[in-house]
Amino acid sequence: MKSFDVAIIGSGPAGASAAFELSKSGISVVIIEKEILPRYKTCGGGLVYRGRKSMPFDISSVVEKEFFEIDTYFSKINTKITTSREEPIISMVMRDAFDNLIVEKAKENGVALLQNHKVLDITFGDIQTIHTSEGDVQAKFIIAGDGALSPVAKIAGWEESRTIIPALEYEVEVPQTDFERLSKNVRFDIDIVPNGYGWCFPKKNHLSIGLGIIIKTKQKIDLKKHYKEYLKVLGISEVLNEEAHGFVIPISPRTDTFVRNNVFLIGDSAGFADPVVAEGISNAIVSGVLVAKSIVESKLDSIRAAELYHEKLEQGLLPEIRTGVVLSKYFYQSRRLRNLFAKKFGNHLSNAMTDVFMGERTYPKDYKASIRRRIKEAIF
Ligand SMILES: Cc1cc2nc3c(=O)[nH]c(=O)nc-3n(C[C@H](O)[C@H](O)[C@H](O)COP(=O)(O)OP(=O)(O)OC[C@H]3O[C@@H](n4cnc5c(N)ncnc54)[C@H](O)[C@@H]3O)c2cc1C
Repeated sequence: MKSFDVAIIGSGPAGASAAFELSKSGISVVIIEKEILPRYKTCGGGLVYRGRKSMPFDISSVVEKEFFEIDTYFSKINTKITTSREEPIISMVMRDAFDNLIVEKAKENGVALLQNHKVLDITFGDIQTIHTSEGDVQAKFIIAGDGALSPVAKIAGWEESRTIIPALEYEVEVPQTDFERLSKNVRFDIDIVPNGYGWCFPKKNHLSIGLGIIIKTKQKIDLKKHYKEYLKVLGISEVLNEEAHGFVIPISPRTDTFVRNNVFLIGDSAGFADPVVAEGISNAIVSGVLVAKSIVESKLDSIRAAELYHEKLEQGLLPEIRTGVVLSKYFYQSRRLRNLFAKKFGNHLSNAMTDVFMGERTYPKDYKASIRRRIKEAIF
């Protein structure tokens, strides 16, 4: 039976980044992936600058377009705000190519890849036996980078405690004149769907257009209907070709633990996507690197590795996400207040969000005082 120090389940940005970081240490690592790579992943493919600058190697070969400016539309108050920066705020990637690049870099450093291997079950012990569709693999550590549905977290005994939201994304081909017009800018449309937003992300030859409901309501929302209406807002009268992909994004972290039975959760399986915009690639990369560093620093000691991982998460990522969870409720649910803010401080709001995208600031820890101050300023 094949045996490794660390088995990483899933080759998304979380798992592949963990593999690359571990590969620098001489520890034996395998990535176990159910698909054959490169594989399609439902995603807008918008890599914000904080994610891009955290990459340990150049990714320009898989970047389809770069945007130094973003437009945010507040449709209910007819307001458009543009922010710009000197570095690309958003780089557009197709996830098959982007994820595969990280895996290839890890492989160059000696990481093994078992693709077309679906993890079905695990027998836990000092050495864990991972049962896959193509046979068993043994490893001391398991890193679950197996995405939003995370079968591995379920097998390891986690109950669901993440907030999981639906999102719909279309890869759309439009006539050349529409493509030229729409491919010049990245745009976000707040409130184009109740409690959520829409995006139009230009790729090399097509548009990725999507909608996400950030705060779930009891009322059922027909995302397909809202997508059709969004096409009209974008001025698209003819669609030459479209592929629809629906999936989910976990936008709040698990509330119990991130390590159990020597299984470490990263990326979507842990619930690390940004709670305000559901951007998940950056934190997937960050958490992959943090878990790898924890295992290396522990010198392969399971208890110490778990302690280190929780400590590292608490040093930045988790407090930021927890603040984001609260801010996201203000932003989408207190719509009248938010629109008042957007009218009065729209530039400030959009620039602050852009700074978060750039990795130049995090969500304010004193957000309550800051919101109270702004409300006073907006009213008086
Ligand atoms: C519609 C939509 C649009 C989005 N747009 C953006 C965006 O523009 N920008 C952004 O930053 N984020 C976006 N996200 C979020 C982003 O896609 C995720 O947060 C990110 O992919 C998480 O990475 P991950 O590595 O944790 O998991 P994933 O990328 O989901 O990777 C998980 C991997 O595990 C594999 N796997 C699963 N089960 C098993 C198994 N049993 N055995 C073996 N392998 C398995 C899967 O095949 C997959 O390769 C979007 C999400 C959706 C749904």
